[in-house]
Amino acid sequence: MAREKTIGKKVSCRGIGLHSGKNIHLNLLPAKPGDGIVFVRTDIGRTAIPANEAHVLPSQFSTIIGAKGATVQTVEHLLAAVAALEIDNLIIELDGPEVPAMDGSASPFISLLLDAGTTTQAKERPFIEILKPLRISEKGKSITIRPSSTFEVLYKIDFDHSVIAKQSYHYWHSPQAFIRDIAPARTFAFLKDVSYLQSQGLAMGGSLDNAVVIGDSSVLNKQGLRYSDEFVRHKVLDLVGDFSLLGRPILGRVEANCSGHQLHVALVKEIFKNKKAWRMVSAPASQETHPKKYPIPSYQSIPLPA
Ligand SMILES: [Zn+2]
Repeated sequence: MAREKTIGKKVSCRGIGLHSGKNIHLNLLPAKPGDGIVFVRTDIGRTAIPANEAHVLPSQFSTIIGAKGATVQTVEHLLAAVAALEIDNLIIELDGPEVPAMDGSASPFISLLLDAGTTTQAKERPFIEILKPLRISEKGKSITIRPSSTFEVLYKIDFDHSVIAKQSYHYWHSPQAFIRDIAPARTFAFLKDVSYLQSQGLAMGGSLDNAVVIGDSSVLNKQGLRYSDEFVRHKVLDLVGDFSLLGRPILGRVEANCSGHQLHVALVKEIFKNKKAWRMVSAPASQETHPKKYPIPSYQSIPLPA
């Protein structure tokens, strides 16, 4: 039987919010069994915002959660790292409206969580087992979940731009696979969209230090890419974070086609609504040992083909 986990000690970091541009301090603290993942806005009366589907607000470019008038933006990369390391209970304190972007990937949060270590708790950790397929589609984009004995994601993207074009990636969840293959993949933006985003009050903290920026025919970041298919890997990262809003680990295969935060969240809500499409089950304890066994790989910059 798997048991819930929290972190072993308080850890902290500071950084700029990708969209808000604000400099924000973040603390991660252990939480009690059964409490789940809860954001706390220390700058507005310690307002607590549980990271679950009931608190998701409509948004397009990042995932936003809110409660009692307080919101937190761009929660997905931190939540992906927390879910990937199979942490169930955590307090996330922030003194502003957004999770710091760090380098635009989940690796800095993985490092922080590995530094904190994990503590196994007495409460059982149940899984959501998908029993029948659910699908959402919209304007040529779709996302489907089907039964599977493990959590796996098959992601396909198709951009009308030569730098990305068609990419696909099949991810089978394990802490090791996430740390090695997914966590370092950074968020990305097209240079031509940046001024529009900024006119909408978005991407105010965006830079080549926290995003891959794509020009007319090449990546503008001097170091190039961390993987030749970094873009689709980042989409998997976003999906892992968004699906953690289910509040429990999932046994199911997600197939995403040109999807994004809106469809990820729509499917999470659809799963919640369709109680006959899944059941809660006990699962054997993870075969993985402590993820400290798996050091974070050094990034290999892969230059784009000329
Ligand atoms: Zn992202």
